[in-house]
Amino acid sequence: MNKNLQHLPQIDALLRSAPMAALSTQYSHGEVVDALRGALGGLRRALLAGHLGELPDFLGADFASEIETQITSARAPIQKPVINATGILVHTNLGRAPLADEAIATMQAVAASPSNLEYDLESGKRGNRMAPVEDLLRELTGAEAAFVVNNCAAAVMLALVATAMGRKVVASRGELIEIGGSFRLPDIIQQSGANLREVGTTNKTRASDYADAIEDDTAVLLKSHTSNYQIIGFTSAPARTELAGIARQHDVILIEDLGSGVLCDLSPYGLGAEPVVRDVLAEGVDLVMFSGDKLLGGPQAGILAGRADVIQAIRRHPLARAVRLDKLSLAALEATLRLYRAPYDPFQHIPVLRMLATSPETVLKRAKELEARISANNALTVRVIETEAEIGGGALPGQKLASAAVALGMAGVSAEKLARRLRAASRPIISRIQGEEVLLDLRAVDEGELESIVATCAALHRQ
Ligand SMILES: *Cc1c(COP(=O)(O)O)cnc(C)c1O
Repeated sequence: MNKNLQHLPQIDALLRSAPMAALSTQYSHGEVVDALRGALGGLRRALLAGHLGELPDFLGADFASEIETQITSARAPIQKPVINATGILVHTNLGRAPLADEAIATMQAVAASPSNLEYDLESGKRGNRMAPVEDLLRELTGAEAAFVVNNCAAAVMLALVATAMGRKVVASRGELIEIGGSFRLPDIIQQSGANLREVGTTNKTRASDYADAIEDDTAVLLKSHTSNYQIIGFTSAPARTELAGIARQHDVILIEDLGSGVLCDLSPYGLGAEPVVRDVLAEGVDLVMFSGDKLLGGPQAGILAGRADVIQAIRRHPLARAVRLDKLSLAALEATLRLYRAPYDPFQHIPVLRMLATSPETVLKRAKELEARISANNALTVRVIETEAEIGGGALPGQKLASAAVALGMAGVSAEKLARRLRAASRPIISRIQGEEVLLDLRAVDEGELESIVATCAALHRQ
């Protein structure tokens, strides 16, 4: 056995020492015990792995200060800001879209104070919490009416419950999607009390497949954006206008789950394949659903927009209250939607769209600037490489955005270990590993975050 292991002190004994007794006057007994347990556990593991030659001075100021740091960091909330250097713009694991300053300010203001959420200031009577976003959504999408719930999954569920419970939903076999593991369209349809009628094949579904499947108890034709995969090759799907004609002829509702839902044309940025909500509705789709926190660039929300009578049925359904959007998200959504109108330019004011619209040259310049600032640190190897970023979050699968990254390496340290050290920073940096290098892709990194990356890299050098 490692003889040093025998010299690890007991927690009880340490607690009686003067430095720990002093800490116990400032922090709770439980906090000091937890921090000591963590520190001793770490030392024990390091000794067993042969990584540690000498034990610290348990009565010294350095050890006490390390314990104090552990206590204070344990007090901080676990969810905290990180830097998204993955090259995936809308990263679900990293909380999707960062909010615009205007949305944060509005949200903060109504969080700290009562607000006129459901109160009409003119009449002094009860108001409609949804009216401001509904008006904006009608203006921005051309829809007759709109409604908002907690997220897009809830929007799909609510729409199906309200329109198709006990009846049939016709959907293409090529569009029975699964999003993020737990959202599986066939399961959602079943949970809504509707019956799924699959038509077509994985790669080809024709308009006649939909038409032939319609029976007396058919309520809905459902289209879904295949937002995280592509079927390529020998494929076909009917045009929306064609499906809309069939739906009208048979008096059923045409619904489309758009997933990301973009409000403005992205083709000037080389991303033309993502359908714009206004166009989808203009092509005759009766109801669309999309997320608030994907390419729209707002808070988590599920937006429903379309025909007034369909929205009315959704609004009145008892489940609507159970999936209601909270007031903070509602405030952030309203503020975000306002940025789509004059005098604002959404590609300037909404962070996700700004990142998407940044030219590859600007991203490359940012990477070179970061390289120059990290280079001063000779523990790391640094080079700039050109990369391809992705949209993520269920939009434009397979489409890449030209980007640039700083590739980091450290002598004697594996890429996994280096990535872990970057994640351990007070402002964790989430990177991507490629071969033996750690890439910091800068497409989704804000100019203002470079300072923090430089500081973290400088600290790596000292470890
Ligand atoms: C992302 C996505 C959803 C789920 O949206 P949430 O807002 O995460 O609930 C549903 N359908 C499609 C097509 C999606 O891309």
